[in-house]
Parts: sequence; structure tokens; C-alpha cells
Amino acid sequence: MDFYTEPERKIEIADRADVLVAGGGPAGYSAAIAAARNGADTILVEQFNCVGGMATSGMMSHFTDGCDSPLFDEMMDRVHRETAGIFCPAQGAGRHQISHELLKKVLLDMLTEAGVRLKLYTFVCDSICENGRVRGVVTESKSGRKALLGTITVDATGDGDVAARAGAEFQLGREEDSRCQPVTLMFRIGGVDYSRAHLPGSFEHLLDVPKGEIQALAREHLPAPAGHVLVYPTWLPGEVCVNMTNVTGIDGTRAEDLTRAELVCRKQMPEIVLFLHEYLPGFEHCYLVTSAQNVGVRETRHFKGLYTMTAEDIVAGRVFDDWIATHNWFNFDIHNVEGAGLDKDGAQKHFSARGQYTIPYRACVPEKVDGLLLSGRNISGTHKAHSNFRVMPICMNIGQGVGTAAAIAVRDGVEPRHADIREIQKALNQQGVTV
Ligand SMILES: Cc1cc2nc3c(=O)[nH]c(=O)nc-3n(C[C@H](O)[C@H](O)[C@H](O)COP(=O)(O)OP(=O)(O)OC[C@H]3O[C@@H](n4cnc5c(N)ncnc54)[C@H](O)[C@@H]3O)c2cc1C
Repeated sequence: MDFYTEPERKIEIADRADVLVAGGGPAGYSAAIAAARNGADTILVEQFNCVGGMATSGMMSHFTDGCDSPLFDEMMDRVHRETAGIFCPAQGAGRHQISHELLKKVLLDMLTEAGVRLKLYTFVCDSICENGRVRGVVTESKSGRKALLGTITVDATGDGDVAARAGAEFQLGREEDSRCQPVTLMFRIGGVDYSRAHLPGSFEHLLDVPKGEIQALAREHLPAPAGHVLVYPTWLPGEVCVNMTNVTGIDGTRAEDLTRAELVCRKQMPEIVLFLHEYLPGFEHCYLVTSAQNVGVRETRHFKGLYTMTAEDIVAGRVFDDWIATHNWFNFDIHNVEGAGLDKDGAQKHFSARGQYTIPYRACVPEKVDGLLLSGRNISGTHKAHSNFRVMPICMNIGQGVGTAAAIAVRDGVEPRHADIREIQKALNQQGVTV
């Protein structure tokens, strides 16, 4: 391998804050809003032109049901209060379906009203560490290479870019072989006749159509590893969100793999549209409208925290003493790492648990690195537990808890690992979060 040695150089400390949040997805915008509302001077850094992560730039179809959170309710209430006629012809879409343009606006409003200082178009390319403590991040943007400092940094990049560069220990993908769930480039199609269309929205949704059963037809006719039908209603007349491209064997922390995934997905997209024309009633005249800004990555790094969430915690509906995210409910959504459909370890229709579960603060505190909190799909959990807590409403719950914890730790002048959990829970109670 050849190497190039970068010349040493000084870079400007462009800004500093009490709480520095890297990544503006559900886990990041929630953490930033919560930190700012709890009195912390807060910066949110995001590589793209909008916040929302998979919910917006990733063109996700819907927030999964089953979560009960005041911040989530506030966001959705605001979404549904926005004036009809600008973002969609009429109100009335399902409560959890996402209008991407509308959500982008609502989130920016909520962040700026909370006083969060935004750094969009800014990529976090390194962490700044001193004696095992994260002090901030190095960014690259049109403005050049800059440093941003934070008393506490929250890593909400999904992949844990800050934590990885700070040397925090992690497991990539599943424990036995580091394989990650497949990736998907979301896209939207128009021209669907809703009056006749059926929209299979899960692998276990079998549907008899004139030429056979739709999931079996997909396995037979789509180019592998594509081979399932997942389509969802949108706010726009005749438009449907399609979650059917599928690429296995991708490590989402490698640009080379993401490039390969993008090429494969873009080959699959026209074939999927042709398949829908041919086999799914109501889709005979559908056409491609637009696609996501980035390939959607379901799984990458699981960091080692002071506690690691397990599938058993979720099934037992555990209430941890140090809860920071409550009323979480979802199934084990493990997509097949080798092809289309659900993994043998996944459980959707047949999922059962004792009730809603909580997430402990310790799962968000990296085991050995100080000055840093984890938020969202990169917290400490097994491959199977992650398949459950990775959904967006639960990532929002985690974000609210972590942002609150960061603000309390800054206020009290302590490391995240020493933050007073009762004070954090008291502050969460005041925001309507109860156990
Ligand atoms: C294809 C697919 C389908 C899914 N379906 C659903 C569904 O139907 N319902 C549901 O609720 N959930 C669904 N999920 C899960 C959910 O979307 C994600 O797990 C969730 O969004 C994770 O939230 P997050 O905030 O941790 O990460 P993300 O949403 O990925 O947000 C991370 C943010 O950080 C930014 N970022 C990343 N790295 C950097 C960097 N180095 N510098 C600056 N910014 C950076 C990104 O641009 C992004 O905005 C799906 C996921 C995928 C991939």
C-alpha cells in the first residue's frame, strides 16, 4: 500500500459549545433539541443540507408505530398542523407517514426555536481527543478544515464516526461474523391507482394477485438480492414509497462499499418498476419520481457501552433503574443478510414481548472514552437488540434522553459516566417522559 504524509498544520477552532451533536438524524435532532431546552449551548453538525437523517434525506416511508414519546408527539402534531396546500394537496395522511419536505421544515423550526446552532453541509471527519477524552471534532466543508469543540460531544452519526475515531471499542454487524443487515436505496413512484392498489408493507404480508403470490413472484422475477415487495402510502396523490432495492455484503462505514451499493440499487430500480407494472394491480402505469440522497444503511457499528442491550431485555420489557428512554415497542426487524426477505432470527408477525421496554443510560456511555455519549442506532446493543431499537421513534427517545443527560452533565461539571441519573430522570419527567 502506498502512503502520503499530510503536512502538519494548525486549523481554526471555528466554534465551541456545551453540547456538540454530530449527526442530524432522529437521534441527533432529538438530542440537540433536548440539550438546548435543558439550558445547554448546543451545536448540531450535519453533512447534508437538511436534518432528519433517514427520515428525510433517506426518504423513509414512515415512523414505525408503537412508541409513546412527548417529543415524537410534539413533532407529529406540528407536522399535521402545517398548512395544507403547500406540502401536499390535503391533510389526512396517516399520522406516522412522512412528508419529507414538510418534516425538513418542521425539524429546522424546532431546532432553531430551541436555540440550537446549526452547521449544515459539514462533514465530521475526525474526533479531537486528549488523554482518552473527546474534546470535539474536526470537520471538512466548503469553508475548509475546522475544529469544533464541545464540553460533551454526542455521536449521533448512525455509524458512530466520532466514537470510532476516538478509539471506542465496537462490534461491526452481528457477533458471529460481522455481517450487517442489507442496505436499501429508497425511492418514490407516481402514477399508482390507489383505488385498486394493495400495498404490502412487510415481508410477512402475502398477497394473491392475478399472476400468483406477490412475495413469491418477487423472489422469482427480481434480480437477487432484491426479491421482496415493500411499498407504502405517501402524502402525495398517486405516489408510493418503495423499500425494495436490496444489497447484501455491504459495510456502510466504507465509501467503496457504499459506491458499489449505489450502483447496484440504481440498476435494480428500473427493474423493480417494471416488476410492479407487470404484477401488482394498481401499479400498471407507475413511474419513478425521485430517490433518496443516500443509500439507507441499517446496521454498522455497535459500540461497547457500560451496558449492552440484549434481545432478552426487550422481550422481558425490562425497566432499568437508569432508564433514559421509555415506552419503546417494536419487533426484531432483521433483514436477511444473504438475500431478500427476513432473517431467520427476525420476528415480525410472531414477535411477542411482555410489554414496552426501557433503554438504560449506561448503554449510551462508551465503556472507556470520556466526554462522549452515543445516541441512536450506534448505542451499545447486540445485533438482535439493535434490530429493534434502530427504528426512528425509539432513536428519538434515545436522543431526548441523551441530550438531556449531556446538558445535566455539563451543568454539573461532570463526565457523562458520573452524571446524576436521578437528576436526568427528573429533567426527563419535566419534559413528560415517564417510566
Ligand atoms: C432502508 C431502511 C428502512 C428503514 N425503515 C424504517 C421504517 O420504516 N421506520 C422506522 O421507524 N425506521 C426505519 N429504519 C430505521 C431508521 O431509519 C434508522 O435506524 C434511524 O434513522 C437511525 O437514526 P439515527 O439518528 O441513529 O441515524 P440516521 O437516521 O442515519 O442519521 C444519522 C445522521 O448523521 C449524519 N451523518 C452521518 N455521518 C456523518 C458525519 N461523519 N458527519 C456529519 N454528519 C453525519 C447523516 O447524514 C444523518 O443525517 C429504516 C432504515 C433503513 C436504512
